[in-house]
Amino acid sequence: MSQKDFYEVLGVDRNASAEEIKKAYRKLAVKYHPDKNPGDEQAEERFKEISAAFEILKDEDKRQKYDQFGHEAFQGGGGFSRGVDPFDLFKDVFGGGGGGGGGGGFGSIFDDFFGGSSSGNAASEGSRGSDLRVSVSITLAQAAKGVEKEIKYHHHGECVTCNGSGASSGSGKIMCSTCGGIGQVASNQGFISIRRTCPTCSGTGVMIENPCQKCNGDGRIRKQGKVKVKVPPGVSHGNRLCSRGRGDAGSRGGPSGDLYVDVHIEDHSLFERDEDDLFHDVQIPFALAALGGTIEVPTLEGKVSLKIPSGTQSNKTFRLKNHGMPNLRYSSRKGDLYVKISILVPTKLSNDQKDALVEFARTCGEKDFSEEEGFLDKAKKFFDND
Ligand SMILES: [Zn+2]
Ligand SMILES: [Zn+2]
Repeated sequence: MSQKDFYEVLGVDRNASAEEIKKAYRKLAVKYHPDKNPGDEQAEERFKEISAAFEILKDEDKRQKYDQFGHEAFQGGGGFSRGVDPFDLFKDVFGGGGGGGGGGGFGSIFDDFFGGSSSGNAASEGSRGSDLRVSVSITLAQAAKGVEKEIKYHHHGECVTCNGSGASSGSGKIMCSTCGGIGQVASNQGFISIRRTCPTCSGTGVMIENPCQKCNGDGRIRKQGKVKVKVPPGVSHGNRLCSRGRGDAGSRGGPSGDLYVDVHIEDHSLFERDEDDLFHDVQIPFALAALGGTIEVPTLEGKVSLKIPSGTQSNKTFRLKNHGMPNLRYSSRKGDLYVKISILVPTKLSNDQKDALVEFARTCGEKDFSEEEGFLDKAKKFFDND
C-alpha cells in the first residue's frame, strides 16, 4: 500500500517551520477528531494519518530521517513508529491533563476550534488586580506650583511570603486537572458546546500543589500601601491622575491594577478660580476711588501693586496679566488675575468728617440732606426708647 506524503497530509510546505507544522496539525486534528465525528470511519482514518505525520515531523531528528529516506526510515509500513497512540499525541499537544480518556481534552478541542485561548498562555498567568481610586486634597497654591504628595491606601498587595505566587516554598504549580490547563471547560449537549471559566482554577489553568499558608494561595494579602504622587502645576479640581501598577496586585502572579488619584482642591479664602484665571474682590475707600492711587493686591505668589485711576467706579474690574494659574498642558502659559473693585462707604463718621462731607456735597451742588438726617435721628430715638 502506498503511503501519503507527511507534508501533504498536513498540507504544509516541505520547509515549513516547526510552528507551522504544529499549527497545521492542531487545525486538522480538531477537525477530524473522532469525538467530533462519531461513527465516521473516514474521519478517524484521516485523524490517524494526521497524527502519524505529525508524530514524525514534530521531531527534528525524525523529520530529518524522513526527508532523507522517506517512509522507509520508519518500519516500512503504515502509520506509527512503535506504538504511538494518536490520542496520547493529541492530548500532548492540546494539554489533555493527567488520566482520563478523551473527555479530559474535550474542552480544549472546542477552545481551539472556536479560537479560544491556547493552553500555553492560560497556564502561566493569574488574573489582573483591580484598579483602585483614592483622592488627594491640596491647596490652590499647591495646585499652582505642583506638589508631591504621599498617599496611604489599603490594597491587596503581593504576599511577601510566597512572592505573590500563592505557593508555599518548594511547591510548584501543576496543571489544573479539571480543565487541562485551558482555563475553561465545555459541556456538550448534542452539537452545542457551552464554554465557561473553569471552576477549579478560576480560569488560570494551573493549580498550586501546596498553597501558601499566609495568603491561602491567592498570592496577595490586604495591606497598607504608600505611593508618592506628583501633582502637576495647573491641575484642576476633579482631575484624575493614574499611577500605573499601584492598584491591587494580581492574584497568583497576575499583573497589578492601576491606582487612580482624584485631585481635590481646597477653597481659597481670597481667590475664585475659573480654569486658569483667578478672581479676587477688593474694597477700596471712597476717597481713594475718587482721587486715585495705588493699592496692593494679593496674588498666589505674594503681592503686586495695582494703580487705581481717579474716578474708579464700583464693580470696575482690572486684569493683572499672568498672575493666574499655570496651564496644565503648556507650563509657559498662565492665566490672569481679575481684581474687582467695590467701594467702601464710610460708616461711623465723626462730626468733623460729617461737616466735611456736607461741605463737599454743597460744592457739588447737591441738595442738603441734613433735614432728612434729622428726621432719621428722631426716628432712631423713638425706636430706642420703645
Ligand atoms: Zn502567599
Ligand atoms: Zn482549571
